[in-house]
Amino acid sequence: MRLSLSDFPGQDSDFLSKGICDFDRMDRKKNKEIKIKKKGKRKEGDFSQLFASHVFHESEMKKRLPDRVFKQVQKARETGDALEPAVAQVVADAMKDWALEHGATHFTHWFQPMTGFTAEKHDSFVVPVGDGRAITRFSYKELIKGEPDASSFPSGGLRATFEARGYTAWDMSSPAFLKEDEGGVTLCIPTAFCSYTGEALDKKTPLLRSMDAISREAVRLLHILGKKEVSKVIATVGPEQEYFLIREEHYQQRQDLVFTGRTLFGCRPPKGQEMEDHYFASIKEPIAAFMRELDEELWKVGVSARTRHNEVAPSQHELAPMFNSANIACDHNQIVMETMKKIAARHGLVCLLHEKPFAYVNGSGKHNNWSLQTDTGENLLEPGHTPEKNITFLIFLAAVIRAVDEHADLMRIAAATPGNDHRLGANEAPPAIISIYLGDQLTSIMAELAGEQGEKGLHREDLLRIGTSSLSPLPLDSSDRNRTSPFAFTGNKFEFRMVPSTASIAAANFTLNTIVADSLARLCDELEQSDDPLKESMKLAGQIYKQHSRVVFNGNNYSSEWVQEAQRRGLPNISNTVDAAEAIVSEKTVSMYEKHKVFSRTELESRYEIVLDGYINTIRIEARSMLDIATRFIVPSVIEYRAFLADTIRSLREAGADATVEVANLAELSGHLLEFDVRLKRLQESIHAAEKKEENGSRALARAFRDEVFAAMNALRETADTLESQVAREFWPLPSYGEILYHIV
Ligand code: ADP
Ligand code: MG
Repeated sequence: MRLSLSDFPGQDSDFLSKGICDFDRMDRKKNKEIKIKKKGKRKEGDFSQLFASHVFHESEMKKRLPDRVFKQVQKARETGDALEPAVAQVVADAMKDWALEHGATHFTHWFQPMTGFTAEKHDSFVVPVGDGRAITRFSYKELIKGEPDASSFPSGGLRATFEARGYTAWDMSSPAFLKEDEGGVTLCIPTAFCSYTGEALDKKTPLLRSMDAISREAVRLLHILGKKEVSKVIATVGPEQEYFLIREEHYQQRQDLVFTGRTLFGCRPPKGQEMEDHYFASIKEPIAAFMRELDEELWKVGVSARTRHNEVAPSQHELAPMFNSANIACDHNQIVMETMKKIAARHGLVCLLHEKPFAYVNGSGKHNNWSLQTDTGENLLEPGHTPEKNITFLIFLAAVIRAVDEHADLMRIAAATPGNDHRLGANEAPPAIISIYLGDQLTSIMAELAGEQGEKGLHREDLLRIGTSSLSPLPLDSSDRNRTSPFAFTGNKFEFRMVPSTASIAAANFTLNTIVADSLARLCDELEQSDDPLKESMKLAGQIYKQHSRVVFNGNNYSSEWVQEAQRRGLPNISNTVDAAEAIVSEKTVSMYEKHKVFSRTELESRYEIVLDGYINTIRIEARSMLDIATRFIVPSVIEYRAFLADTIRSLREAGADATVEVANLAELSGHLLEFDVRLKRLQESIHAAEKKEENGSRALARAFRDEVFAAMNALRETADTLESQVAREFWPLPSYGEILYHIV
């Protein structure tokens, strides 16, 4: 359906023919009608109007584009071919008209540079032409390509060798949407970001490439298995996002939170999470109000926020959307993080996404649920009622097991941020050792295929007896041991549980997609030689399991026995980001990524630099923030409190009263202040010494920050926390953990 003039109250015919729009005369009534009421009781049926009301989705496009154009867009989306300029212009016009109807004044290419955040540069639709009149213009060129000045985004050296220009290219697989806030309404066009010569400078490009790779290889395998009707396989992802909400006034009083996203000081609160009374607890009203507004904002832009609940730590919560294609899920997760921060501010709260904002209580992560779905609607990781006979499922399962075992180091770096180094292996999140939870039943089936006994020696008869009538034959997701696994099979998908809460989920998914694509490709190479690929598939699945069963572990991943056992099995245990980064540039990685056209060697080398730079900068900023807070806040406060104690002692003595306790307190405090001063100087020196390593390259610099600076930071914190426990509240310069976590003013 094309628009008619009646859709634009107050506009004359120039508006439709030439895009001339008189904003002064424009009747805003229409826009007001379209906007859904923010507050008040929602009427029945409102939800369906609200959901995706700010998205230029497929049905909106179908409604607005001539049939022929719509079909061309669909085809281009399938093939990845460029649209003819004339066709692209029709799409651009329709998109602009739709955006204007919703009150948009600007458009932006919305992209995901290597900062981990999204970036946008707004351009106005409006071009004044005098007489108080203005043209609204949006050319197809502006839709399909942008040229942000990209020289200030991390490029890991790519910038030095290539043109400083960056290009953004329209990603037709993720729909445009409207962002509405105090800044007005902006049309956001999801784009990929690359250099002049096509090197990826963002998170989306490799994700899209990896989705092509896994589709290509999965379709190839399905065709061998006789499923010729499948022409595309989509990686599906549902990311669960954890976060903290604290009061804004507490945040503003903590420079450590402002500068680094985590608290660098803070002694253990009287109450942490030991009572386990926060997890799934009823949601307090102010938080519920935040969640409600968050859900509504997300629904508008098509994010299907579905589950919300309190998490383990006090003040910690979680949001989970319905799964989507990996690309859209990744875009949506960026929107979720951004919207959480925005809505929190409206409620006098601050949303903390850091992996470890507080010591002593759990940090935050993301559970990245991942599966593969055919364009005919089949979930390839759905075992069905008789998994032991489901060849497609078993061969795909085997491919995943091999991929994860062979590329555990890549899975590890996909989950690495300096913040996550605090969590992994600290008995609150999976350890740094990558293993797979399959559950007893699948383990037993795979072991049988491999001609060996399962880990627990469980026989199928036992399982059938336990299972078929009342229980589904799937592994039970609720068991404790499952929750400790970094990569758990949860019925019809894998849940990658190590993903950092701050990070884009792109890395987790381009890694999974590519390593599994590679494993599938090798299976295809073998099966293509076989006369009986179905039979051969079962055999190969068994062989693969036999070779890679070391990566399967159904026990408690938090136990120290597992660390020993994993070492015996030869599984890597990489404790920190700096060491994990090495996997990015290993020959094995480079050849795999190049083979599947996901990354070139140059791109990988640049990403290695970006990870190390990110690590160095994070620790450097944390160390500097510590020095600043210690010198300008903590030391003066302790000195003041000491003077107060000394005054008190003097007065007591003058009055002939007993001052034994005060004297003892003063002596103890003085001792710790002295220790604090020594440790402060040590931290200063360690930063100075580390910086000197720069001439030996970023690896040496990162290691120095990890081994010297980080250790000195921990020592300083230890003394600060002791001091905090000894100084009267009114003298201590920072809100305590107890106050922050329990929102005590
Ligand atoms: P759990 O309770 O085990 O965490 P849920 O059913 O609540 O599992 O799902 C968690 C997340 O997994 C949700 O985001 C959900 O949409 C997603 N999910 C479900 N099925 C799939 C699938 N086939 N592929 C990817 N994600 C999925
Ligand atoms: Mg989960």
